[in-house]
Amino acid sequence: MNAKPVIGFLGMGHMGLPMAINLHKAGYRIKGFDVVPDAVQAAREAGIGTVATGAEAAAGVDIVITMFPSGKHVLDAYREYLLDSAKPNTLFLECSTIDVAQAREAAQLAVSAGHRSADAPVSGGVVGAEAGTLTFMLGAQAEDLGEITPLLEHMGKRIVHCGGYGAGQAAKVCNNMLLGISMIGAAEAFVLGERLGLEHQALFDVISSASGQCWSVTTNCPVPGPVPASPANRDYQPGFAAALMAKDLGLAASALEHTSTDAQLGSLAAALYRKFSDEGDAGTDFSGIINAIRDGSL
Ligand code: NAD
Repeated sequence: MNAKPVIGFLGMGHMGLPMAINLHKAGYRIKGFDVVPDAVQAAREAGIGTVATGAEAAAGVDIVITMFPSGKHVLDAYREYLLDSAKPNTLFLECSTIDVAQAREAAQLAVSAGHRSADAPVSGGVVGAEAGTLTFMLGAQAEDLGEITPLLEHMGKRIVHCGGYGAGQAAKVCNNMLLGISMIGAAEAFVLGERLGLEHQALFDVISSASGQCWSVTTNCPVPGPVPASPANRDYQPGFAAALMAKDLGLAASALEHTSTDAQLGSLAAALYRKFSDEGDAGTDFSGIINAIRDGSL
């Protein structure tokens, strides 16, 4: 049997650390790095091998995984040291959520430098990262799937190959634009129902089995009661924080602009979540937007 690939893992924050821990538990040798010393320390305490610089994390490994806050972090690191430090033909697996255009640029930079590239953004949050049940949306060349898939299977339960470079980010941005719109729609329906004298449970029982049915109602219901596990039952503790939804909708807005797409609801959802997040609710679950809709503060 072939030896497992050695992994350079950069960005060991809320998502990256549990993902790296799952790879470590699966027997992969990891050279981990984060610019924040506490993150490196946490990785070391979990038994993960760490190195002193990002360049060292990329040197001599087979696969470089990045899990950074933004596309600028990714492009800066690629340009400044990652691509130069890696041995030829290294696979750069970019798992952060970033702009589709930046993902394609990152892939182009990697390929021009003699490497291979794939984008594999995730959904499932910190809970999914810890449990190894993430969904990966994969933008990769078909010939690299045999190498990428077994690796991702240790961190996720579902891997969808969406196409070539940038296709993973494209799928993620489309899904999250729909999610933002559907949550606002669900919240508006429940507030209207309240004003028309409907009990939450009665409206839930109808929507969840009728044509308005969606994840924002059946799994992440914005009112407390009908779905016991939804964040509404714990004072809207995330879950999926409004700041992350605002970020993802900003990426959707950027993609709409790049493609000259007139998507009025997507653009409006981006503006509403930006306002909600900026005005004190960045750390609230995104379903908490129902409270701003109810009190008319959006
Ligand atoms: P985070 O801020 O907790 O972690 C990012 C880490 O990257 C930080 O520890 C930071 O210090 C590190 N970093 C930044 N630049 C670096 C560099 N050059 N070298 C090494 N380390 C560097 O963010 P997170 O919540 O883990 O999210 C990571 C990515 O995953 C984001 O793009 C986010 O949008 C996406 N995402 C997050 C969630 C979630 O629920 N948190 C869900 C899905 C996707």
